Amino acid sequence: KKQGKDQCAVFEPAMRESFQKHLEMEADLRRAVLRHEFELRFQPIVRLRDQEISGLEALVRWQHPERGMIPPLEFIPLAEETGLIVPIGEWVLREACRQAARWNAQRSSDTPLTVSVNLSAVQLERADLPMLVTSALEESGLPAKCLIIELTESLLVEHRPETLQRLHAIKALGVRLAIDDFGTGYSSLAYLRNFPVDIIKIDKSFVDDIGDMPAAAALTLGIIQLGQALQLSTVAEGIEHIEQLSELTGGNCELGQGYYFAEPLTTDAMDNLLFPNPPPVT
Ligand code: C2E
Ligand code: MG
Ligand code: MG
Ligand code: MG
Repeated sequence: KKQGKDQCAVFEPAMRESFQKHLEMEADLRRAVLRHEFELRFQPIVRLRDQEISGLEALVRWQHPERGMIPPLEFIPLAEETGLIVPIGEWVLREACRQAARWNAQRSSDTPLTVSVNLSAVQLERADLPMLVTSALEESGLPAKCLIIELTESLLVEHRPETLQRLHAIKALGVRLAIDDFGTGYSSLAYLRNFPVDIIKIDKSFVDDIGDMPAAAALTLGIIQLGQALQLSTVAEGIEHIEQLSELTGGNCELGQGYYFAEPLTTDAMDNLLFPNPPPVT
């Protein structure tokens, strides 16, 4: 096609091979849904002021029987293309709410943890999304104010009018919305005006360059101030070094997430982090 009309090209073996691979992966992914091969990791989101955990982000993994752990960026695009993200995403949402409710029930603190769940555009295209969110909350007993739905800018670019209605329906439940990877899209500012957003997650690429590029630091601080002016919470993603942390804290960024605090953890590891000294069984 690249060579223009009326051109004929041989179907190369390499193309056939990659097509074959794609089909195999798709069949594998279908099987994975039936066999429940997905797992969640939870990464703490920390209040920078005192480094207390304020919430967790649920991040999906595929535990493949032969290939081992497959990260989301290697199967989410295929899951979106095939529609398999719908059952996978439904499981992620229900499981994340269930675990968060369990952790909150065990904690004595009066400020419950929030749980953040990433949503794909394909899931937002479904009319039954608000019903799914309602059911995940009811089933788990998690209060709506503890659930945060993360959307990427690219998702909002191609939105249809129904998308906005569905987001409002979800917000009406008391659930909050976050824009993920903020600053990497083409017209981030328009979303802040047009969508009922509560939280901005500053993309890791800005945080990465804070120490090396004055422009990155200035942009990061600018985004934080923008968030404050609009009364939105700001979360800095991908904090790895103490220098980044002090810059962000100095700029009054409210929340942060990154390997400096913790990597995404298994449910067991999160249990140990939240409850380091389990009471002896009596
Ligand atoms: P995201 O939502 O922006 O999630 C943050 C990603 O950055 C995670 O990668 C996390 O492990 C990684 N990260 C966090 N802190 C650091 C750090 O300090 N350094 C570095 N290098 N990385 C850090 P992960 O888990 O591989 O997920 C990648 C993306 O896959 C997510 O980006 C999200 O867009 C997507 N994703 C994950 N789970 C789901 C899901 O359940 N549904 C959907 N639709 N997408 C998901
Ligand atoms: Mg996210
Ligand atoms: Mg992100
Ligand atoms: Mg990302």
